[in-house]
Amino acid sequence: MEKCKHNDCLNCESVDVMKGLCLLDEQFVPFDGDGCPRFVRKPKCKFCRNYEAGEEADMGVCGGLGAPYWISGEMIAKTCESYVEKRDE
Ligand code: SF4
Ligand code: SF4
Repeated sequence: MEKCKHNDCLNCESVDVMKGLCLLDEQFVPFDGDGCPRFVRKPKCKFCRNYEAGEEADMGVCGGLGAPYWISGEMIAKTCESYVEKRDE
């Protein structure tokens, strides 16, 4: 299973390219730092069943909205009607 990073947590609000704000603790957290037990996965393309990772970091193909197209796996998917969360196997 992928490690739970602050940046992938629903409770993390982006501040800049390096850090976010944990809305529960009201403290800054480093994006790539390990999350805590309160981690809740944020909907992102990389967690969607319609996303297929490419060779380049954080880039992949979306196959859930018609013709497949390249997309960043870091894209926030809260408003995508085709988002289906990938289950960890
Ligand atoms: S709830 Fe935990 S994992 Fe989520 S942003 Fe706060 S410290 Fe990080
Ligand atoms: S279907 Fe939506 S959430 Fe899923 S990969 Fe495509 S754009 Fe992202």
